[in-house]
Amino acid sequence: MDRVLGEVLRAAVWDRLHMLEQEASSTDDDSVLLVARSELPRLVAGWRAVLAHHSPDLRGRCPACSSLWRPWVAPCTVWLSAYKHLVYAESMSSGRFEESAASRG
Ligand SMILES: [Zn+2]
Repeated sequence: MDRVLGEVLRAAVWDRLHMLEQEASSTDDDSVLLVARSELPRLVAGWRAVLAHHSPDLRGRCPACSSLWRPWVAPCTVWLSAYKHLVYAESMSSGRFEESAASRG
């Protein structure tokens, strides 16, 4: 992918995330419900696609993050980020999560 296309792609994704964030903070609950019903399944499908791409191979390595010279033992940063944003309890601060994730590596 060339650099310009990459920049266009990233800007479009950031714009979409910004739009969703604004929609979610709308005071019109009916609008929020409509957006949630239409966008949540797409976001779930997107996360699943990304996570499938970063699923460990038979040797326990992430094929997407590994290179020939530098194997990356799963879970990779994509899975750690998914856990942090989708599962992680708000009772633990983000800094503590990163400390515990770093201590595993
Ligand atoms: Zn990965």
